[in-house]
Amino acid sequence: MSEAAWDYDLFVIGAGSGGVRASRIAAAHGARVAVAEEFRVGGTCVIRGCVPKKLLVYGSHFAEELQDAANYGWTVEKMTFDWAKLRDAVLRDVDRLNAAYTSTLESNKVERFLERATVVGPNTVRLASGREITAKYILIATGAWPVRPSFPGAEHAITSNEVFHLETLPKRVVIAGAGYIALEFAGIFNALGCHVTVVNRSETLLRGYDAALRDRLLQITMARSIEYKFNCPFERVEKREDGSLAIHLGGQTQALEADVLLVATGRRPKTDGLGLEDVGVELGEKGEVLVDATGRTNVPSIYAVGDVTDRVQLTPIAIREGQAFADRVFGGKDTRISYDCIPSAVFSQPPLAAVGLTEGEARNRYGSVKVYTSDFRPMKNIFGHRPERGLYKMVVDAASDRVLGIHMIGPEAPEILQAAAIAVKAGLTKAAFDDTVALHPSMAEELVLLK
Ligand code: NDP
Repeated sequence: MSEAAWDYDLFVIGAGSGGVRASRIAAAHGARVAVAEEFRVGGTCVIRGCVPKKLLVYGSHFAEELQDAANYGWTVEKMTFDWAKLRDAVLRDVDRLNAAYTSTLESNKVERFLERATVVGPNTVRLASGREITAKYILIATGAWPVRPSFPGAEHAITSNEVFHLETLPKRVVIAGAGYIALEFAGIFNALGCHVTVVNRSETLLRGYDAALRDRLLQITMARSIEYKFNCPFERVEKREDGSLAIHLGGQTQALEADVLLVATGRRPKTDGLGLEDVGVELGEKGEVLVDATGRTNVPSIYAVGDVTDRVQLTPIAIREGQAFADRVFGGKDTRISYDCIPSAVFSQPPLAAVGLTEGEARNRYGSVKVYTSDFRPMKNIFGHRPERGLYKMVVDAASDRVLGIHMIGPEAPEILQAAAIAVKAGLTKAAFDDTVALHPSMAEELVLLK
């Protein structure tokens, strides 16, 4: 088939972070591009993830700031909080971003189909309206979707999709899971004055992060009145006539009472009913699209980027994968993505952030490692009469002095870590940190004063 015989050069399914980046870059390289989106342009991060979540973190953090304000001479009279106002303001910002992403696609002449698309051939998609469209390449960028655990009454729970739309602020929130979403919303609801209980199936929280940081987060958040129940399976949930929930957990004699049960037990690639298996695309155990290092599936005309591939479920990675795909396939550039030293953060309260190897990983891989820590009480906390301490940890290869990982918990940890991640990625040594003059007074200066 000649190039012009295809309806488009590229048909993208899913207008989230990866899909939008791939669409606009492919179009900028001269490709004729169309994208289908069944919900809203912008995807999880913009519509029901990172962005609205971060705004809720900012919104809830005022509770602490306003409390501390008195120490700085401010008198704040009659402090009240209106959930509906914050919620609606956040949702308006989501509308703004949705419009901005839409206009990016328009200005790059990417055609949009706001309906579901499925794959019906190696070069053919079918829209919900029944129309079939052909394309030289198809890119799957449908992202991931919250997993809803199966126990009787699970339908009474909400997921991170619905949490942004709550009618009222619940008094009691139970959160299932102790990962990113669970800890971030535990922090938001706790700061807004709700009673929060985090229930996890295992005895750990934030699996994968350095143990010292996880312990510190647990300690601080417990002191802030968040309750934890570990090794607790959900048995059943009953909804009472007044709308409240009775949550029965394994090994607990008394049911937990709650107004909202938020399940945050992971996100699964969104490939159900997409037609991929029917056209021979190989999927993994969780339904993830299996791809090679260039994002190509076993069907040569079909590629995938972002969460749907279940490699690293982070927005900046989806964006890089989308960019690399478009540059390679339509721009003739062999861009490869490095999955090494990806910085990450949990916007819990306080937040934590990390890059590189944890102490445990480094010991397993390198044998002899040196660990430097700073366990300090930030000036802001001292003045605010808060006992909470920050903890910074640097893991260094004893043989080469190279910094293998940095792990931080404390105010503004994600902001500080982003810059430090450059040094770790660049393979700098502990001596290079020591050579750098401290910027005083700051929390970040701890990084160059580690002894
Ligand atoms: P996570 O993978 O972070 O955590 C899942 C939690 O649920 C863990 O505590 C896990 O337990 C538990 N769990 C997993 N499976 C089950 C199950 N079948 N039944 C009961 N409990 C279970 O998932 P999230 O949903 O919080 O977030 C999904 C992804 O989204 C993250 O992995 C991350 O990539 C991304 N994300 C990133 C954010 C950021 O960058 N700040 C913010 C939000 C999401 P266990 O203790 O056994 O691990």
